[in-house]
Amino acid sequence: MEKTDMSEKILVLVRLRPPNEKEIAANEPTEDWECLNDTTLLYRRNTFRQPSNFPSAYSFDRVYGGECPTRQVYENGTKDIALSVVKGINCSIFAYGQTSSGKTYTMSAITEFAVADIFDYIFQHEERAFSVKFSAIEIYNEAIRDLLSSDGASLRLRDDPVKGTVVEKATEETLRDWNHLKDLLSVCEAQRKIGETSLNERSSRSHQIIRLTVESSAREFLDKENSTTLMASVNFIDLAGSERASQAMSAGARLKEGCHINRSLLTLGTVIRKLSKGRRQGAHINFRDSKLTRILQPCLGGNSRTAIICTLSPARSHVELTRNTLLFACCAK
Ligand code: ADP
Ligand code: MG
Repeated sequence: MEKTDMSEKILVLVRLRPPNEKEIAANEPTEDWECLNDTTLLYRRNTFRQPSNFPSAYSFDRVYGGECPTRQVYENGTKDIALSVVKGINCSIFAYGQTSSGKTYTMSAITEFAVADIFDYIFQHEERAFSVKFSAIEIYNEAIRDLLSSDGASLRLRDDPVKGTVVEKATEETLRDWNHLKDLLSVCEAQRKIGETSLNERSSRSHQIIRLTVESSAREFLDKENSTTLMASVNFIDLAGSERASQAMSAGARLKEGCHINRSLLTLGTVIRKLSKGRRQGAHINFRDSKLTRILQPCLGGNSRTAIICTLSPARSHVELTRNTLLFACCAK
């Protein structure tokens, strides 16, 4: 049996975004979902006279309503997990939800907060020598692209006996400070805009992984044999729109894209479901079935820590997709 510690379950957070201008302008009903308290989301349309087949109450580790700032989602949900990287623990934070539900809005701010805190930690721990490396890739149609390079080449995966699956030739930048992070993020942003599809189309179909690898050793023992080096990665994953995981997408003209996005998203769903049940049940976990799960394998399960932020649109017209996201969230907890 592999050594696992399933006492750390996957943290499942649900975030409902506020109505956007378009929804307000269109008089779209957006009051159907409500946070009853810190952990319970209510579907308010179920009444005695108008029952539906949706359950009325959903509970998760945390739920955040439209008025809740990202800072709070970060502080009380994900900060702890992201910062465990400095102690040598691999971790992953995902944003999962339909296009326009707030994945990028949430994940980009969380990435910045986390990097600021990681640097704070480093400055407060002068007894150790740290290095922080930054890399960013996109998975589009099961092809991996380096978001720090403009050559557009598709990167290959290789199995390394020590490191596990590595993305060959992915650019790694040694991160100097906060401003350097902002520069690198704008390079990524510019790279994502290149291509025949609009950014919106593209981001609905592709997964973006930003990875920080933090390595450290005690200065006192540097150059000595008993110096222990800690090394771990934290991944910030902005997933493709969850609507791409629906069966409907695998039919017709979009067959290729539909299938591939299905593959990474559906495989992730299966992997997460199995991880949440615990490996004690002896289930085989099929990490190798998609690029996304292969790349993330060392940072999922085992002794790693994972949070999934499921983002929801409040719009009544999105109720089916919202419900699908909640079903995914329920399976993960
Ligand atoms: P996604 O990445 O899931 O497609 P975005 O993050 O791009 O969605 O969000 C869609 C729009 O909604 C953006 O204009 C974004 O600024 C806005 N938005 C999303 N979440 C929030 C939120 N919690 N508070 C305010 N605006 C939000
Ligand atoms: Mg997005």
